[in-house]
Amino acid sequence: MDTCLEETSNQHGTRGGRFVWWPVLLLLSLGLGAGVGYAEWLVGRYWAPWLLLPALTGLAGGIVWCGMVRLMPVAGRRALLWTAAVIALGATVLAPHWMAYRELQAQITPETQLIAKMTASTEEPIIPETFGEFLAWSAKRGRFIGRQKIVGVWVWASWALDAILVGVGFGLPVRDLMRKPYCRTCRTWLRPILARNLSLREAERVAARCSLPSNCFPGNLHEPLRLRVLGCRGACGGFVLQFFSVGHRRPLLEESLSSAMFAQLNDSLAAPEASDASPRRR
Ligand SMILES: [Zn+2]
Repeated sequence: MDTCLEETSNQHGTRGGRFVWWPVLLLLSLGLGAGVGYAEWLVGRYWAPWLLLPALTGLAGGIVWCGMVRLMPVAGRRALLWTAAVIALGATVLAPHWMAYRELQAQITPETQLIAKMTASTEEPIIPETFGEFLAWSAKRGRFIGRQKIVGVWVWASWALDAILVGVGFGLPVRDLMRKPYCRTCRTWLRPILARNLSLREAERVAARCSLPSNCFPGNLHEPLRLRVLGCRGACGGFVLQFFSVGHRRPLLEESLSSAMFAQLNDSLAAPEASDASPRRR
């Protein structure tokens, strides 16, 4: 599944750099997740459609997180990326509860606490002090889902469902990012440079210009073939050539290209007849 530019011997000293990125990524993920969860808490005061709000929050969080991660040279470091994503997700899920807890804390004065303790019956919970107590207290007090009030274990179940929906929304863009091709030298994700539909004959001509064997395409292909070239954003200046058959997400063929070979490929696309006349490489 991993598609990437091969590590080349002429590195330009940018392989992740000397700078250590993982603490930055983990800290920023924590902050970003908390920020997204805080935004959900704010929005939830005015508009809180059950199921929809957590799913949208997760999706927005995932998109913003992926945008942030793309700025760092951490492509292909799957364990680190998933750890950071889980931290961001955990912060997103907990932040609204934490904000509600802080809000309640701000309202509590020694007097209200005393009154609550004096008037508390055995069934009625007293005002919570820790975050854990607050969650248990909130569950006992209940939650409205539409006009239906739920209490106790059902509140915990609804929170778990919220968390799952945030996770699903968050996971979609993250999974997509994990599948994107990247450069192993620079640890950055590749950017699309050009995309074009070609007939099988044209595709074979382009492949020949890039020194691929003449029989690199299987025989029973549906035309047109989709040609895609991706370029590295980093210092290595490398490219990746991909061919796709119609309706397939996985490339049929994939090859690393040097900048000289990319220039040749561009020439052959710009003037197919002229390039046909020139001798084949290799
Ligand atoms: Zn690169």
